[in-house]
Amino acid sequence: MEDRDGFIWFDGEMMPWREAKIHVLTHSLHYGMGVFEGIRAYKTDRGTAIFRLPEHTRRLFDSAHILKMLLRYDKDTLNQAICETVRANNLESAYIRPICFYGSEGMGLRADNLQVHTVVAAWQWGAYLGQEGIENGIRIRTSSYTRHHVNISMCKAKATGNYINSMLALQEALACGYDEALLLDAEGYVAEGSGENIFLVRDNVIYTPDLTSALAGITRATICTLAEEVGLKICEKRLTRDEVYIADEAFFTGTAAEVTPIRELDGRTIGNGIRGPITEHLQKLYFDVVHGRHIAHKNWLTLI
Ligand code: PMP
Repeated sequence: MEDRDGFIWFDGEMMPWREAKIHVLTHSLHYGMGVFEGIRAYKTDRGTAIFRLPEHTRRLFDSAHILKMLLRYDKDTLNQAICETVRANNLESAYIRPICFYGSEGMGLRADNLQVHTVVAAWQWGAYLGQEGIENGIRIRTSSYTRHHVNISMCKAKATGNYINSMLALQEALACGYDEALLLDAEGYVAEGSGENIFLVRDNVIYTPDLTSALAGITRATICTLAEEVGLKICEKRLTRDEVYIADEAFFTGTAAEVTPIRELDGRTIGNGIRGPITEHLQKLYFDVVHGRHIAHKNWLTLI
């Protein structure tokens, strides 16, 4: 990705994409201690708008707080940096990646002189699980890897090191011919996908696991609000994998994945094996909101 035109915001400076480099002894590269966000901006009638920017920035700062990482910039500066990065790259729609990490000032777990660096990159990124997945649904597999336990990793932090677990699960699912993994928590209950929250629908009620060992997804919160607004009942509770097998519909949510139907888990067809009507309804509402076509929720959009 590094050989291309464009600009990256690096510690307060907008620099050419190819020059935004770090040293091989970067501490976070060695020990996986960093925090990041994944944010999207969409084209709207009023121009490019970043979806739920303050919520993403807040989660980034929460993640840093959990890891006791002292960020050099405040939220306003970061919000401005994010807007500037989208503008500088002339993007109508974008995937935006802010990341904060420790530099190369020291090595070893005991290093105490590390500086925290902050970078914001943005680029054009289509449907993460494919347009075909958005329309027809994806096939997923229960992972042999367990999701983080609350006292092993900090599940409320979107921390770089947490994603070893996600990547192991995803690689396994892909190697087995599936599109994505479903991770169970340490007690065997449904947690989330490698980078998505999960929902299921049965008898017109929407279920989603509580957030004990899943990331507090901003898309998840958005879908809960939109569902309640149209009178759908949402129930947050512990779910088992066989509750997913017998669901009428299931779908993943995430900034990258947006709203992606799930048509199969572990070789069991979910519902009719196509995008279900409630999933389609919520997906449409979601795309209307992010593109500024919904009459409400304009406050979720930050025009750049
Ligand atoms: N769970 C995990 C593990 C994730 O990486 C993500 C993506 N950030 C999500 C859930 C969904 O979160 P959001 O809707 O805020 O993108």
